Amino acid sequence: MRHIAIIGSGPAGYYTAEAAQKQWGDDVSIDIFDMLPVPYGLIRFGVAPDHQSIKGVTRRYEQTALADNVRFVGNVKVGQDVSIPELQGLYDAVVLATGAPRDREIGVPGDHLRNVFGSAGFVGWYNGHPEFAALDPDLSGHTAVVIGMGNVALDVTRILAKTRDEFAGSDIVGHALDSLMTSNIRRIVVLGRRGPHQIMMTPKELGELGHLSRTAPRVDPDDLPELADDALLEPGIRKAVGHLRTFAAPPESDRADLPLQVEFDFFAAPRGLIGDGKVRAMSVERTRIEDGRAVGTGDFYEIRADLVVSCIGYQTSPIAGVPFDERAGRFANDEGRILPGLYCVGWARRGPSGTIGTNRPDGFGVVELIAQDFPAGGAKAGREGFDALAAERGLDVVSFSDWKKIEEAEQARARDDAPREKFVDVDDMIRATSLAD
Ligand SMILES: Cc1cc2nc3c(=O)[nH]c(=O)nc-3n(C[C@H](O)[C@H](O)[C@H](O)COP(=O)(O)OP(=O)(O)OC[C@H]3O[C@@H](n4cnc5c(N)ncnc54)[C@H](O)[C@@H]3O)c2cc1C
Repeated sequence: MRHIAIIGSGPAGYYTAEAAQKQWGDDVSIDIFDMLPVPYGLIRFGVAPDHQSIKGVTRRYEQTALADNVRFVGNVKVGQDVSIPELQGLYDAVVLATGAPRDREIGVPGDHLRNVFGSAGFVGWYNGHPEFAALDPDLSGHTAVVIGMGNVALDVTRILAKTRDEFAGSDIVGHALDSLMTSNIRRIVVLGRRGPHQIMMTPKELGELGHLSRTAPRVDPDDLPELADDALLEPGIRKAVGHLRTFAAPPESDRADLPLQVEFDFFAAPRGLIGDGKVRAMSVERTRIEDGRAVGTGDFYEIRADLVVSCIGYQTSPIAGVPFDERAGRFANDEGRILPGLYCVGWARRGPSGTIGTNRPDGFGVVELIAQDFPAGGAKAGREGFDALAAERGLDVVSFSDWKKIEEAEQARARDDAPREKFVDVDDMIRATSLAD
């Protein structure tokens, strides 16, 4: 019997379990650890609450989770409750699927001011991540600046822009919905160092921004390259740029009466945040593109910024004893192998890019590596060994059936128009596991 520990229950973790099942059938035993009592990583805490159909992918992971040889081991933080060497002593292979939960820093003076957030925190707040549920962003100001030209920046902008009715069917957590419904924000500036042709936004998400009731996004026509140049773009980006052209078309007067202005500020690099305790403005330098890179022009200006959310990428959290590539912000690995017996997949392997499905081949790839490194199963203690260790340490492990109780309790307390009201506190999650069947 082969014993595999997968650390992280997001897409990369479940795709790895699925691949291992396909490869070894009943001849493998898989424990999927997560530091939280609830599974699925960014499907629960990253993917936007108003994109429920995307979250439907968890039904596939549940099929994997319910197999006899797969176990969810929730509420166990690897590196804290149990170490990597301990797991290596118990399992033939340890696969890190811990994602990239830390924000890349803006790295400009003033980025420590109040009401300046990274997207991990801000998205975690409206999605009910226990670590960020108490973030309490101040939405009483007039202007929000969202830094970044990817889909996360679009998610944040859309969430800040929506009306109560537009949240129907979403699972945005109650505390965020209440706060957003009393928001005074009247202007959102989406700011990026490069230009329309360098965006990382997908057409569907960009198009969605054009259908909101309170706003009509605005792009400065002067920022757009010649139409003929769009032909050189990859089809997805070309379509997305088409939406930007649509946003540039209507006359200014069409937007004047709308309660919220959403403006794209291209070729704009943040150089400093200004405020006295709390942020109130941003210093910006105009850029131009040279060899695909944004370089400063020396032309500076200031914009109002009562709230700043930077959506410029993420990094993996190091774990004691695991080689880490500081520059790339992920575990040091060769195609997923850190060293024989220790592997990584998903964002912990590749960094924060691609869609949910991009993580799937990682799972299959790593299973091949494990098969090469360990052609036969070893004689490790596997899950029984871990259970003994957990009992000795008094760990409060949450199983998959415990999670199903949490899920049921969240569904039972949902608003009328919502699929669930998430618990945002780990203690509340644990309490729900002891509710009667
Ligand atoms: C804001 C946002 C929105 C997104 N929206 C979309 C979308 O609409 N469509 C799409 O296709 N993709 C989307 N993505 C991308 C998608 O979420 C990722 O590709 C995917 O979640 C990465 O999977 P992963 O398993 O590598 O990491 P994660 O999903 O982050 O999972 C990592 C897991 O590891 C656990 N963990 C971390 N450290 C430890 C530890 N020390 N011990 C135990 N457990 C640990 C975490 O709790 C977490 O459950 C979005 C991403 C973000 C950030």
